[in-house]
Amino acid sequence: MTIRRFLFIYLGLVLIALITGYWLLCLILLALPILPLLVHQWRRHYIIKPLFHQLQQSMPKISTTEREALEAGTVGWDGQLFTGKPDWQQLLSNNQHALSAEERAFIDGPVNELCAQLDDWQISQYQHDLPPAIWAQLKQQGFFGLIIPEYYGGLDFSPLAHSHIVMKIASRSITAAVTVMVPNSLGPAELLLHYGTQQQKDQYLPRLANGDEIPCFALTGPEAGSDASNLPDTGIVCQHEVDGEKIIGILLNWEKRYITLGPVATLLGLAFHLYDPDHLIGDQHDIGITLALIPTDTPGITIGRRHSPMGMAFQNGPNWGKDVFIPLDYIIGGVEQAGKGWRMLMESLAAGRSISLPALSTGAAKMACQTTSAYARIREQFHQPISHFEGIADIIGRMAGLCYMSDATRTVTAQAVCSGEKPAVLSAIAKYQLTETMRQLVNDAMDIHGGKGISLGPNNLLARIYQAIPISITVEGANILTRNLIIFGQGSVRAHPYLNQEIACFDLADNEQAVTEFDRLVTAHSKYTLSNFGRCFIYAITKGYFSKAPESILKRYYQQLNHLSAALAVTTDFSLMTLGGSLKRKESLSARLGDVLSQLYLASCTLRYFEHNQADDDAIFAQWAVSNAIFNAQTALLSFTDNLPNRVLGRLLRLIIFPLGQRYKKPDDKLTHALSAKVTEPSDERNRLIDGIFQPSDANEPLYKLERAFKLCSAAAPIEKRLKQAHSQLSEEAVQNGLITGQEYQLVKQAREARRQVIEVDHFTAELTEDGL
Ligand SMILES: Cc1cc2nc3c(=O)[nH]c(=O)nc-3n(C[C@H](O)[C@H](O)[C@H](O)COP(=O)(O)OP(=O)(O)OC[C@H]3O[C@@H](n4cnc5c(N)ncnc54)[C@H](O)[C@@H]3O)c2cc1C
Repeated sequence: MTIRRFLFIYLGLVLIALITGYWLLCLILLALPILPLLVHQWRRHYIIKPLFHQLQQSMPKISTTEREALEAGTVGWDGQLFTGKPDWQQLLSNNQHALSAEERAFIDGPVNELCAQLDDWQISQYQHDLPPAIWAQLKQQGFFGLIIPEYYGGLDFSPLAHSHIVMKIASRSITAAVTVMVPNSLGPAELLLHYGTQQQKDQYLPRLANGDEIPCFALTGPEAGSDASNLPDTGIVCQHEVDGEKIIGILLNWEKRYITLGPVATLLGLAFHLYDPDHLIGDQHDIGITLALIPTDTPGITIGRRHSPMGMAFQNGPNWGKDVFIPLDYIIGGVEQAGKGWRMLMESLAAGRSISLPALSTGAAKMACQTTSAYARIREQFHQPISHFEGIADIIGRMAGLCYMSDATRTVTAQAVCSGEKPAVLSAIAKYQLTETMRQLVNDAMDIHGGKGISLGPNNLLARIYQAIPISITVEGANILTRNLIIFGQGSVRAHPYLNQEIACFDLADNEQAVTEFDRLVTAHSKYTLSNFGRCFIYAITKGYFSKAPESILKRYYQQLNHLSAALAVTTDFSLMTLGGSLKRKESLSARLGDVLSQLYLASCTLRYFEHNQADDDAIFAQWAVSNAIFNAQTALLSFTDNLPNRVLGRLLRLIIFPLGQRYKKPDDKLTHALSAKVTEPSDERNRLIDGIFQPSDANEPLYKLERAFKLCSAAAPIEKRLKQAHSQLSEEAVQNGLITGQEYQLVKQAREARRQVIEVDHFTAELTEDGL
């Protein structure tokens, strides 16, 4: 009998025992293969050693760049989620960062002033760039030096403050937000701070902080997009004569595109592959990816024309260099850091990815929520506000729940960076999930605005955000790649309590020592796996009822997440056991496990955010967001079991993680409509939900007019109702008859006028000029 056949019969018996309820027999059958494993020598010789050698040979080879990407950054809450029994106290007590008084003053002062001056319609439609006065303001007030220490003239703000600043600007102008975001994200300043020589820091950081240098960072080229480590741009170490003197330097040739701020940059951060054929700086020929800082006026550099990314007006374009000679000290960190560029990029990616796009996406999400909840209340069709229709309430409720979740994830992820974490996997989740959530929310907002959202013009508050969505989806790791390859691929290796260490054993030089270490790890891993199998099965039946969770009005959600965390741990081990290294190539499967991890993280952030904010009235938002994430995680797990190549194993896994079938439901209509009701009337909950985005104080601003009309219409609603019930018009007669007071007459009149103003859309001349606007 083949092993395969034996295994099927064995698993079949286990299954029959399980289905027919012979639990004891099932346990005995499960325990049988374990017994010999308990004998130490036997196990080491007959099981561990052959297993070790087989795995060592079959493991897919990991390239240096892949390894560097895998090992970059830190593991935080993702590690807990993989344990199968997350320590919630740790989540709730860690990283308690808040804005300092100075940061708060900057956000309420210079950031508000900047936002007030931004006219996004003019910028994107006509100027195609930020006006010179705005560029000057950005430089003078330190917007380009948010992350640079005070010692070098920067503002030295925390990642949380940085996130708030980008969020607020994004709600006003995506062009301005990207312009501020890029110098403070992965680029020259960030790289210099971590790897630069003292001389490089002294030379560049003060000039970057005050905007004398405009930086850009160029990695992507025509042939190197998502697979950026495979870049064809070269640097050759060679001797060159400069002013009659022979010096060792690098001869560069490159072609880059899509480089943000590239067209106006004075300082180019460049990634290229370095070779040293004459061994002038060491004995290696192929040194590897290297990063350098190069003034853009260096001979041989061409700064190309501009791209037009979805009509946004931020500066973005190609550049290339032909035989550009640079001295060795242009390498970031000097010769010592030559060849370590990929590691540097991967290590630095996490901080920027945790902040920039999550902040921009949340700004857009809040803007979508604010405008849509107000507009739906103001806009009347079929003689009532459209917010009263269930179809609209379904969508607005969902928008509110997702917006709350976005803000929670943005905040909690930025707080982790404040504590010194460089969340490799969690930043990828935040980037992917929040940009996708923004896409959903902005699409929803457009649907509810109907023609008002479609008609471009200065009064359209959504169209530019809508246009910009694909940019956020594509940059900093395109979303399909991030979902399919990065989140679980990197998460399982980095955050799994044993896997990474087990893989590391295969690289140990001493084979005996490697087998001993492997044995120790596999034994611990097996205990962990078995306890998760048991825990998961029991939690699945009870929906985690008896599991440990913080005392909270949301306690049951923590317990349900305990079940799903155990299910993720079990499913991970199960799939590693059955699919091994091939899981890496099975992107559709690994993406689903990435979704489970993502949803558990989103739910965790929401719970922590809710507990910290101490606003019990917001519980419905948290409930909606967490139960939605729980449902999504369950869907991903079930769909994973449905698509395992071996159907029998898929069913077996399903029996362990969901023996009673689906356990969790989508947020129900009642809850969704309750959220919608909260935000389509003025309320503290709504104010908190949209807190942090720019609120203009100029009465001519479209957003100001919208909010004013929203409040007036809401206040006038009971009077309108009285008039309607009395079949009366708004008239002097109604006042004289005592149906309404004079004040009420004025209120309704104002509300109707304000409403009328808001529902207007822009129109242009036949040539689409603004004459008469
Ligand atoms: C507006 C804008 C600004 C930018 N700014 C900069 C900058 O300042 N500096 C810089 O260096 N770069 C910048 N970029 C480049 C950006 O990082 C790349 O666009 C991005 O890495 C994707 O590369 P690509 O566009 O060539 O897409 P491709 O790599 O061609 O990808 C196409 C599609 O294939 C998917 N895909 C690729 N591989 C896989 C896989 N293994 N599994 C599943 N799906 C996969 C991707 O997710 C994507 O959906 C910018 C881009 C834009 C559009």
